[in-house]
Amino acid sequence: MAAKRTLLSWIELSRAALNRNISSLSGLTNGKIMAVSVKANAYGHGLKEITSILKDNTGVDYLTVHSAEEAIVCREAGWTRNIMVLGPIALDNIDVIFDHDLEPVVFDKKFLSRLGRKADRLGKVVRTHLKLETGTHRQGITADELPAFAEIFRGHASLKKPYGASMHFANIEDTTNHEYAEYQLSNFKRMVAAMGVLKIKPRIRHTASSAATILFRKTHFDMVRPGIAVYGHWPSKETYLSYRLKGGQNDLFHPVLSWKSRVTQIKHLAPDSFVGYGCTYRTTSPTHLAVLPVGYFDGYDRLLSNQAYVLIKGKRAPVRGRVCMNLIMVDITDIRGVRLEDVAVLIGADQKERLSAEQLAEWANSINYEILARLAPGTPRLIVP
Ligand SMILES: *Cc1c(COP(=O)(O)O)cnc(C)c1O
Repeated sequence: MAAKRTLLSWIELSRAALNRNISSLSGLTNGKIMAVSVKANAYGHGLKEITSILKDNTGVDYLTVHSAEEAIVCREAGWTRNIMVLGPIALDNIDVIFDHDLEPVVFDKKFLSRLGRKADRLGKVVRTHLKLETGTHRQGITADELPAFAEIFRGHASLKKPYGASMHFANIEDTTNHEYAEYQLSNFKRMVAAMGVLKIKPRIRHTASSAATILFRKTHFDMVRPGIAVYGHWPSKETYLSYRLKGGQNDLFHPVLSWKSRVTQIKHLAPDSFVGYGCTYRTTSPTHLAVLPVGYFDGYDRLLSNQAYVLIKGKRAPVRGRVCMNLIMVDITDIRGVRLEDVAVLIGADQKERLSAEQLAEWANSINYEILARLAPGTPRLIVP
């Protein structure tokens, strides 16, 4: 048996936290169909690993992915329930839908016609979800386009009707003013009614991402599609604030992911020494530095240079100088007894300190979604209880 080697940078995924977040979401929706977003490598957590946990959680009905390639990874990881593909599938790759039993979100006439012809030829019924344009102006079809789509659906025995009708909110997590969300919701309802008149009434309707799931019961319809909250993160401060103002509790979600590394060199610098590229940091007194083998390649944003800190022995060690491609240097002058290969926490808890993805996002002028989604896929993921 191969000896278990010491990892120098790794991600830990808490199975318990993931399952708890899902129960919290199920509690909010009273058991509506649960479609969990695992796009972007499961928000950077690791698609294979997250799928392997979710397949044992019977509270999850659907996985939603962006691409056909992600859907295949889910199937290979043993997911046998429904998969909805949110993003585009190339016209010459339509077979993937039949090969892996996928439910595409549709928004293009040419794509839908080809899908219908193919499905008729194979004699296989396809579940599609029609994306409705209600004001986000990303994917989605307008009310004017509905009759043409209805004709395509009705013209193919294997399609008949879309299984689902969906939309996505443009302005629900970035504000505490939800007028625009209300406007989109009324557009959605009007378009779904028009679908009924055109004899393509959908079986299920779904609109709610995490923020809508948390804040607005009336957006739940038949299915919800949360992403970020499943991983234990609030979509934004505004969502958190709106929820608390409605009297909600703050222990709904627990971060699933921690990112850890190890001290791989310790050095002692004299006063007036420069640290790293561009000589952006200069010591003013005798300084102990630790070198950690993670950098922007690994998803540690370069904007964290001279901004962030990591946790070592439960204490804050500030990043000195610029973040390199594969390395950072941190100041351990005031942390006693740091030794080679001691653990450094980049995201997560260490004794009484906790360093969140939200905190890194603030330093890097970004959002928690981006900090997580950009964690390098090559970093080993360990599932912990
Ligand atoms: C990503 C995505 C979601 C999930 O959004 P979160 O804010 O992460 O909950 C839901 N629906 C669609 C269409 C998406 O693209």
